[in-house]
Amino acid sequence: MPAPMMDTYAPPDLVFDRGEGVRLITDKGERYLDFISGIAVNCLGHAHPKAVAALKAQSEKLWHLSNMFKVPQGIELAKKLTDATFADRVFFTNSGAEAMECALKTARRYHYVNGNPQRYRIITFTGAFHGRTYGAINAGGNPKYLEGFGPAMEGFDQVEFGDHDALKAAITEETAAICVEPVQGEGGVRALPEACLRGIRELADEHGILVIYDEVQSGAGRTGKLFAHQWVEGAEPDIMASAKGIGGGFPMGACLATEAAAAGMVVGTHGSTYGGGPLATAVGNVVFDELTADGFMDHVVEVSNFLRQQLHGLADRHADKVVEIRGKGLLVGIKLKDGFDPKKLAGLCRERKLLLGAAGDNVSRMAPPLIITKDDASEAVAIMDEALGELQANA
Ligand SMILES: *Cc1c(COP(=O)(O)O)cnc(C)c1O
Repeated sequence: MPAPMMDTYAPPDLVFDRGEGVRLITDKGERYLDFISGIAVNCLGHAHPKAVAALKAQSEKLWHLSNMFKVPQGIELAKKLTDATFADRVFFTNSGAEAMECALKTARRYHYVNGNPQRYRIITFTGAFHGRTYGAINAGGNPKYLEGFGPAMEGFDQVEFGDHDALKAAITEETAAICVEPVQGEGGVRALPEACLRGIRELADEHGILVIYDEVQSGAGRTGKLFAHQWVEGAEPDIMASAKGIGGGFPMGACLATEAAAAGMVVGTHGSTYGGGPLATAVGNVVFDELTADGFMDHVVEVSNFLRQQLHGLADRHADKVVEIRGKGLLVGIKLKDGFDPKKLAGLCRERKLLLGAAGDNVSRMAPPLIITKDDASEAVAIMDEALGELQANA
């Protein structure tokens, strides 16, 4: 009998039945330490009591309403997000790719309503990942994700990640925006140097171009600030895509923009049936309140510093296999030497009940729930240590 699911994923032979904090538990009762959290999604861990309570309460009152009516929970969350960021306006979506679509459309509409319809091109960077919709795969520019899906979409120019001169040279009279992940996730967990973020902002201002940040993975407290770019002074974007962690596991995304950048997004220009619905935003409010509670970010910074310190020790012990430790906060990359496979390493860790992921550029990826303790970090590093010891080079 053919498998009912499309073969777009290749999951291991394991079934998780429930989660508790930083643990995932199989249908056979085996407990795993979750250091990938649905790829930077379950920021509060699994089955967080306050998030569960909010979802339960909302589910008994009202599930869906449509944006043809006001959703008070959504307005409340939008107010919190705009108070806490550069932004004045929010559009809620169901996913990161949709948040990116809204960001790209917002940038083009801005120039359109300001009398510059010729400005529609978006500059992106090598190693970028912006999601799997048509706009997003074309923005990302990864040939693997474009292959076989028809002609490449017009209007995207890609330059080398971190190459300021190439970026300068790529700007034309048709450039609408520069779009970048402050910390690349899928592309190999690479943090863009702070000077580059500031440089992008300055270039954009000089040329009347908008800056779009894709903080779908790097946001929601992942790096120890609500959004990763908030570590850098003088580098606020005009538009930003957020998703993954902001729903804590409930599907949700958001496109944030300044009042000026959102100028073109008027009635009828964009929409979503489910985006910003009562269930998602009820949970989103709880997630936001937890992330911004006293001491939460301090915890993220402290535990991520501890984890990174431990991982540097690990990298030294396995210098024959590990190149470097990368990323920011609790978005961690362990770059392996050529010939060593991060997926194989994830398999060896999984056999030892630790879950982690892989990313591009031969990198092992950790994105644990933000609530991990130092003990959790030590446990994960001890398992990695064993697994790295056993990791064989590719045949
Ligand atoms: C995951 C991700 C996306 C896409 O989000 P989906 O919810 O899968 O559509 C976009 N950008 C970045 C940086 C991501 O990590």
